Amino acid sequence: MTISWIIDHFCNLRCGHCYVDSVTKQTTNRISDNEIRQICKNISTISPEGIIISGGEPLLHPNLFSYLRETGRITEKLWICSNATVITRELIRRIKDFAVAGFSISLESPKDFINDQIRGQGSTRKIITAISLLRESGFDLIIDVTLMKDNIDHIELFFDFLTKYGIEKITFTRFRPIGRGARNKMKFSYNQSRHKEVLEKIVDCVIRYRDKVKVSVHDPLYEIVLSDYCSKNGLEISSLRSSQSYGCKAGTFWVGIGPNGDVSPCPLLLNLGVVIGNVLQQGLKEIIDNSKMIKKIQRRRSGINGCKNLGLCGCCLAHTYSCTQNLFAKDPMCWV
Ligand code: SF4
Ligand code: SF4
Repeated sequence: MTISWIIDHFCNLRCGHCYVDSVTKQTTNRISDNEIRQICKNISTISPEGIIISGGEPLLHPNLFSYLRETGRITEKLWICSNATVITRELIRRIKDFAVAGFSISLESPKDFINDQIRGQGSTRKIITAISLLRESGFDLIIDVTLMKDNIDHIELFFDFLTKYGIEKITFTRFRPIGRGARNKMKFSYNQSRHKEVLEKIVDCVIRYRDKVKVSVHDPLYEIVLSDYCSKNGLEISSLRSSQSYGCKAGTFWVGIGPNGDVSPCPLLLNLGVVIGNVLQQGLKEIIDNSKMIKKIQRRRSGINGCKNLGLCGCCLAHTYSCTQNLFAKDPMCWV
């Protein structure tokens, strides 16, 4: 299982779709070095496959290096999720002392005026500078895109961007109306049939760029589109997946941890108040093993009582919960 650890809500940007509802003024107490160590000890009870450090903007956390030191001891797959606008040569030099495998960099459009509109004036220029610095230093890179009304026509342009900057990995993530995204949902959302077309366009690019780019799509419904394509073309679906995880990852392939140690089946559910325990107080293995919610999610993924695609897809629980307050209702973006 992978851990996605939101270490802070503080961020220098104010993106309108931010599911964490990041803040530009720190209002809550941050945990101490001892508590970071305690959480890592409790996380290590599941021997996590990987850890993703995110925020807010994690690179602005005053204790960033304590997080990197402790998490680097329990996984070889340590990733930082960043908006990349505060990356400098000096910061990279210091991060090189820790076992960080790579960076996942948010970019909402290769068109700089669109990305700047969404992420803030001047952000594209800073992101491009950061990409060169990180590549020079040998870090693995993923471009992380949130699919929204403003960028769904730019799928091909993202692949041109990757080619131009020599980047081999991209993740497309569905917009979810959570956090600040809930208040701005009219601005970013689009409908189910358009979503199906966007996912089909991504499959098309996956095929065309198969030897050059590893594409992940953080949207359970992508599996439906991918499986249709594979059955029409006589392909094994696993041959087109970029990792072993598929469909909704909540409680099956990953869990989320909040700044205070709260645990949720998914980091997006944390912000909706869905909490199953706290890793400052208990081992993560104990929390997961005793969670009725995780058992229910896993049973549901085995396809009992419901849509025949639950095993493959599973609905986005966070999107569903944000719209219906029912974790196990039908995904609002489902066209099936
Ligand atoms: S109902 Fe849920 S599991 Fe079934 S296809 Fe739709 S999103 Fe996927
Ligand atoms: S609940 Fe949604 S955001 Fe969370 S893992 Fe499932 S699909 Fe992804």
